Amino acid sequence: MQFGGGREDSRGGRRSADNSGVSARLHAFGWTRFLAGLLLSLAPLLIVCAYSQAAGLPGATKLLYAPGRIVPIPASIPHEEGDMVDSRIVADLRWIAKRYPIYVTDGYSGPLPEGGHAGCNRCHVRGSDHYNGVAVDLVPVNGDGRCDSTWAPINRLAHWAEPVQNEPRPPFRWVGYNGDVGHGCGNHLHLSWNHAPAPEFTLAQWVEVFPAGSSGAPLTNPPKPVPPPAPPRPSGGIAQVTTGGVSPHGAGD
Ligand SMILES: [Zn+2]
Repeated sequence: MQFGGGREDSRGGRRSADNSGVSARLHAFGWTRFLAGLLLSLAPLLIVCAYSQAAGLPGATKLLYAPGRIVPIPASIPHEEGDMVDSRIVADLRWIAKRYPIYVTDGYSGPLPEGGHAGCNRCHVRGSDHYNGVAVDLVPVNGDGRCDSTWAPINRLAHWAEPVQNEPRPPFRWVGYNGDVGHGCGNHLHLSWNHAPAPEFTLAQWVEVFPAGSSGAPLTNPPKPVPPPAPPRPSGGIAQVTTGGVSPHGAGD
């Protein structure tokens, strides 16, 4: 940016009326350029805001302290039969499923309080968020197992959830995709929600969710700890459990 008028002004005392007019015009020109530059520099921000509104992005997230339950994934969200998750992420999953053609291949993985078991058996890494019901593995609803055009929407979802590697967008805690072993196009997309630390096979005190996930009423009393179901008996398969590749879903974390 040039301020020719400023230099004219600095010649004190010798300025004629004409020079003053030129200076004023140059000043005006400078301000016009400055404002134009400012608008141009704001344009990407304005476009992003407009895009965010158009895309219906969920906005600021919140911590949900309402007690959760392990529940079946609703039929409106395509999923493998029997898959379950923490009830507090269902609304977020519904939001995602409305916008991306996802198919959930695993959610909560572990024993159920009423008996029985959900998800794959110890196919995830130790400490996986699947053991708390706040993680899902996703593939395209009409995918054929290959990294082809059917994965394009999943690529977009993965990029939206994690615009920069290892810097997931809240409420996500960890996103497993391209660049993460055992994940990626043609394998699966893993989404973990931020949550309070919790032992395996227990529900977290809070889960971070989209505003859309506010279906649970805010707590007026401190949450009661969820009694953990009976831990599964060690079966000697511990060595296998840390290798995600043993799962038929290719599930890792
Ligand atoms: Zn996973």
